Amino acid sequence: MKRIGILTSGGDAPGMNAAVRAVVRVAIFKGLKVSGIRRGYQGLLEGDIFDMDVSSVGDIIHRGGTILQSARCLEFVEDEGFQKGLDMLKMFNIDGLVVCGGDGSYKGAYRLWQNGFPTIGIPGTIDNDLAYTDYTIGFDTAINTVVNAIGNLRDTSSSHGRANIVEVMGRHCGDIALHAGLAGGAESILIPEIEFDIDEVCRKLIQGRNRGKLHNIILLAEGVGKPYEVSKAIEDKIGMETRVSIIGHLQRGGIPTAFDRIIASRFGNKAVELLIEGKGGRAVGIDGDDIIDVPLEEATKPNDRLNKEMYELAQMLSI
Ligand code: ADP
Repeated sequence: MKRIGILTSGGDAPGMNAAVRAVVRVAIFKGLKVSGIRRGYQGLLEGDIFDMDVSSVGDIIHRGGTILQSARCLEFVEDEGFQKGLDMLKMFNIDGLVVCGGDGSYKGAYRLWQNGFPTIGIPGTIDNDLAYTDYTIGFDTAINTVVNAIGNLRDTSSSHGRANIVEVMGRHCGDIALHAGLAGGAESILIPEIEFDIDEVCRKLIQGRNRGKLHNIILLAEGVGKPYEVSKAIEDKIGMETRVSIIGHLQRGGIPTAFDRIIASRFGNKAVELLIEGKGGRAVGIDGDDIIDVPLEEATKPNDRLNKEMYELAQMLSI
């Protein structure tokens, strides 16, 4: 292993820069050369590849987004495009590749590994939707962004006695809604893992109104359904005024939290260590406080580990 490549791919996440920084600096510290690949697999196919040194990653640990930029690349999923990517790695004398992204990016990395090229995955996605790791890079920053938004909405909700329906990201995994909902004291948390009952939501709103409660935050993960339909159902059923806020891509940006920077740095270090040990086809993650690595194939499995205790606690605290 003389030269490693690093790319960020798929949906970006705050903290990816800290991972890139760690990969580059640990690799150089251990005597390797590093190639940066811009715009994920798209840049790989196009040969958008450049040498990185210690100062290429200076002043980025605190920045959201990714200095390498990210992209989705359908061509890489096709056989011809994939082969082009593999050829490009050889052309640029890259011996191992670190891919920071979500499950789609991992599938690409796994395919490279199946074709004999050593790859390591670093989990970079705000959704926290990978089952093998307790946390992914960007999740902690995203939930803090949502908690801040809930705080602002609670003020205006109280002033007008309205219910605020807040849509957050999470098509299949309700972790953002669940964690931000617990931290932000949301009245209802609607997540894709658990079927919701609109009558239950309305009953809570009425009970709250009867005891003089002014604010109502209903947190809805995007995979659950359309927020405007929920809003209309509430207005039709109980006549309470509602407003919808879709937090959208605000969740994907911002200054990464210390937690995200720390796990990203630890993941980056582990990824380089694995490549130096001659290991490939692995994904790094965190279990408790331990940095772990598992086969990439296993790492692409979606998160099916809803924290029921946390969900029930959030319900109990929002009676
Ligand atoms: P994320 O990594 O955030 O889940 P995507 O699902 O969009 O984002 O995946 C990112 C990129 O990974 C895709 O645009 C594509 O280039 C690559 N990719 C996804 N699935 C595969 C696959 N089965 N084989 C090869 N590459 C893939």
